[in-house]
Amino acid sequence: MVDPTRDASHNMATTPRQRATAIRRITAELANLGPTLPGTITRRETRCGRSNCRCHADPPQLHGPYWWWTRSVNGKTITRMLSDGLYDDYRPMFEAQRRARTLLTELEALGLSALEADPRYGQHRTRGPTTPRQPVDNPRSPNR
Ligand SMILES: [Zn+2]
Repeated sequence: MVDPTRDASHNMATTPRQRATAIRRITAELANLGPTLPGTITRRETRCGRSNCRCHADPPQLHGPYWWWTRSVNGKTITRMLSDGLYDDYRPMFEAQRRARTLLTELEALGLSALEADPRYGQHRTRGPTTPRQPVDNPRSPNR
């Protein structure tokens, strides 16, 4: 995971004109990105389940290396093995996902930059936020 607070994009464009230029660049790149694939890819060797296999010998001769694709589906971590050919064919989609996240982080920094430059926002900044007792859209609120 990328920590947005450590991203260099926080040091970018601060004037409205610089922001507009950056937004055009980012959205143009996003428009051409195409399909993406989530998760992370690692390449490693593995042992199989057969105890008499060479991968359990001393010294072991492991299988692979293979590509392991790990992603989160409904809060569960799913890992699948990908062949060299499969990974070669779909690698651009994994790279596109990473690029999309970087670009979204840059857009977020631009949004923050715009909000923080807004004088109406600055008026209330010194007090800090207070937590509402109940979310205003809470359907179980007794007042609604
Ligand atoms: Zn084996």
